[in-house]
Amino acid sequence: MKLKLAIALALAAMSAQAAEPWMDKSLSADKRAELALQAMTQQEKLRWVLGHFGSDFGNKTKKHPAALPFSAGYIEGVPRLGLPALFETDAGLGVATQATKTPRERTSLPSGLATTATWNRELAYQGGAMIGAEARASGFNVMLAGGVNLLREPRNGRNFEYAGEDPLLAGTMVAQQVKGIQSNNIIATMKHYAVNDQETGRFVVDARLDDASNRMSDLLAFQFLMEQADPGSVMCSYNRLNGVYACENDYLLNQVLKKDWGYKGYVMTDWGATHSTVESANAGLDQQSGWEFDKSQYFGGALEEAVTNGHVSQARFDNMVFRVLRAMFDKGVVDNPVAEGGAIDYAAHNLVSRADAEEGMVLLKNTGDVLPLKAGAKKIVIIGAHADVGVLAGGGSSLVYPIGGNAVPGIAPTVWPGPVVYHPSSPMKAIQARAPGAQVVFNDGRDPAAAAQAAADADVVLVFAQQWVGEALDAVSLALPDNQDALIGAVAKANPKTVVVLETSGPVLMPWVDQAAGILQAWYPGTAGGEAIARVLFGEVNPSGHLPATFPASESQLPRPKLDGDPKNEAARFTVNYHEGAAVGYKWFDLKGLKPLFPFGHGLSYTQFAYSGLTASQKDGKLSVSFKITNTGAVKGKDVPQVYVAPLKAKWEAPKRLAGWDKVELAPGESKQVSVTVDPRLLGVFDSRSKTWRIAKGGYKVLLAQDAADPKASSITVQLPQRTLNVSGK
Ligand code: BGC
Repeated sequence: MKLKLAIALALAAMSAQAAEPWMDKSLSADKRAELALQAMTQQEKLRWVLGHFGSDFGNKTKKHPAALPFSAGYIEGVPRLGLPALFETDAGLGVATQATKTPRERTSLPSGLATTATWNRELAYQGGAMIGAEARASGFNVMLAGGVNLLREPRNGRNFEYAGEDPLLAGTMVAQQVKGIQSNNIIATMKHYAVNDQETGRFVVDARLDDASNRMSDLLAFQFLMEQADPGSVMCSYNRLNGVYACENDYLLNQVLKKDWGYKGYVMTDWGATHSTVESANAGLDQQSGWEFDKSQYFGGALEEAVTNGHVSQARFDNMVFRVLRAMFDKGVVDNPVAEGGAIDYAAHNLVSRADAEEGMVLLKNTGDVLPLKAGAKKIVIIGAHADVGVLAGGGSSLVYPIGGNAVPGIAPTVWPGPVVYHPSSPMKAIQARAPGAQVVFNDGRDPAAAAQAAADADVVLVFAQQWVGEALDAVSLALPDNQDALIGAVAKANPKTVVVLETSGPVLMPWVDQAAGILQAWYPGTAGGEAIARVLFGEVNPSGHLPATFPASESQLPRPKLDGDPKNEAARFTVNYHEGAAVGYKWFDLKGLKPLFPFGHGLSYTQFAYSGLTASQKDGKLSVSFKITNTGAVKGKDVPQVYVAPLKAKWEAPKRLAGWDKVELAPGESKQVSVTVDPRLLGVFDSRSKTWRIAKGGYKVLLAQDAADPKASSITVQLPQRTLNVSGK
C-alpha cells in the first residue's frame, strides 16, 4: 500500500514537472529561463519588463495593489507558471522604507564608505548577508544595493552609499556585499551605471569621459564587481554619458556591459531614468523601473506596439524577458519564494553592524596618545551632534529607519531626502557605561563660548561634529556646516585634550587639525554606532579603518574646485567634463604633486606595525608580491598593508595605482607572511581601438606602504614583459 502511494506521488511530481519543466532544479538557469519563456503569452512576457512603484506617487498614482507597502518597486509575476512577482527594496545599508509614517524599522549597516574603510572583505560579505536576510524576511526578493560609483567628487551627496575612489578597492568590497546579499537567494543590483558621480543636476547632467579613462576608473569598479559577484541585475543611472542617457546608451549597455563583459543578468532603470521605448530597448535596457516616475509606460503598451511593428524585434524583446527570468532562476528566487513576516534576529544583526562600524572607523590623528581614553578620567565633556542620544544617518532612498525610531525628530529637511535621522544609539550612554566613576557632561555645542567654558576643566573633551547629506543633494562645500569649525577651534583652545569624532558622509576640511589632539572618523556608523564609537575610544576595539578616499586640504586642490551645475536650477542642462580622466582621488594628487590633509589609505592604530622582506616576482607576466608584517607594539591590532605599483617608464594616468592589500590581525610581537597577487589590468593601459589591455615592457616599482603618501614605503623593482590582454584581462 505504502509503495503504491509513493509511486503515485512520484508520478504526480514527475507529471507536474513535465507540465512545468522549468521547475526542474537539475537544469541550468539558462535552460529553465528558456523553457519558461516558451510557455508565456506575449502579454505575460510584458509583465517582466514594466516595474511599478511600491508606494503612492504623490497624489498622482496609487501604489500597485500587490506591491509591499512603502516599498521601492514591484514587478508582476506569472503565477500561472509558478513564477513569483518581484518585490524590490532599497538598498545598500539595509531594508529601507519609502518615506512614510509607519516605516519598517530594520538594522542599518554603517555607511558604504565605512564598510569600505574596513578593507575587510569578510566583514563586507557578512554585512551583505545580514541585510539580505532582513530583506528576505521582509518579503523582498530584489535588493537595490551594490552602489559602486567612484568618489570623483567629495561633495557628492551619495558618497556615503558608495565605496570610495579606487576601482579595485570599491569593486572588491561592494562585490563582497553583493555576494552576501545574494547568498539569501535574492537578486542584488550594481548601480548606478555609470558615471553618476554627483547629485546636482543628476537628471540632466552630461558626464564627459573618454572610453579608455572610463575603463580604467568608473567602469573598472563595475567590472570587478560584476566578475566577482555576478549581480542578478544592473541599475542604469539618471545622467547622460557623452551626450546619451545612461538607460538608452548603446555603448554602456550593449557594448561594454553585455558584449565586452559578457553580463548575463538584466538591466533595470533607476526610478525616473527611462526616456524612450525603441531607443532604450534596442540600446540594451531590459526593464523600466517604477514607471510612475517617467513620462510614460515606455515598456508597457508602447513596447508591445513597437514589437508588433518590428521597431523592436521579437528576439530582442524575448531576450529582455529571458534575462529577468534567468536571474530569478540563477539566484534562487523561483525555488525559494519569499514571504513577509519572517523572523529577524535583531540582537545578532546589531553585532554584525557594530563590527562593521568599529572596523570602519579611522583614527586620523592621535597626538600624545590622547586615545584610548583612560578609565580613570574624572571628568569627560561631550559636545555636539546630539551625541547624548544618537548617531547621524544619511538621507534619501537608502535610509534604513531606526529600530526604536528617530532619536532627534524634527530637524529640517523633514521632507525627502529628509527627514534627518539619528539612530538611537547614544555615544554618551555608551561612554558613561565605560567610565562609571567619571562625571560625564553633555553640551549641545550651539554656543562655542559656552562649550569652551564647559570643556576647560575636563580630563578629556569629545567634540562630535557632523555633516548631513542626502540623495539628490550635494554638500555645498567640504567645510563642516553650522559653525562647527568655530566650535571645535574654541573648545580645542580651551582644552588641548580635545578629540574630534566625525560623523560625515565623506571627506571634510579641518581648519582646526593642528589644534585637536585626536581625530576619529566615524562616518555614519549605523544601528550600533554609539556603542561602536565608545568601544573604539576606550580601546576595547583597536581602530583599524583606513581611508577609502583622499581628504583634501582645500577645495582648490580638486579637479573641479567648484561643483558644476546649479542646485537652484536642477532642470538646466550642463556638462561635467571629467578632464582628470582615470586620475581619480590619490592619483590626481600624485599627478599634480598635491599634499592632502589625509591621504588615501591612511589610518592609525593603538599599536604599531613593521614591514620587512618585500619580494616581487612575475611569472608569465603575472605579478605576485609578498612580505612579512609584524606587530611591534604592545596591544593586539589589525593592519592594512597596501601594495602600489608605479611604472618607471610606461605612461599611466598617474604615477601609481593601488594593486592589492590584505587585512591582517596580529598579537603583540606576532609576525605573518602576506602574499598579494595583482590583477594584470592594473599593470596595463586600456586601448580603446583594439579593446585590449596593454602592459608595456619595462621596470615597475612595487611599493609596500601604509597609505598612498607614505614616505617610509619600501620598494623593489620588477621587470615585466610586454603583454596584450583581452577586455577581461585574460
Ligand atoms: C535612487 C535609486 C533607488 C531608487 C528606488 C532612486 O531615486 O537613485 O538608488 O534604488 O530610487 O528607490
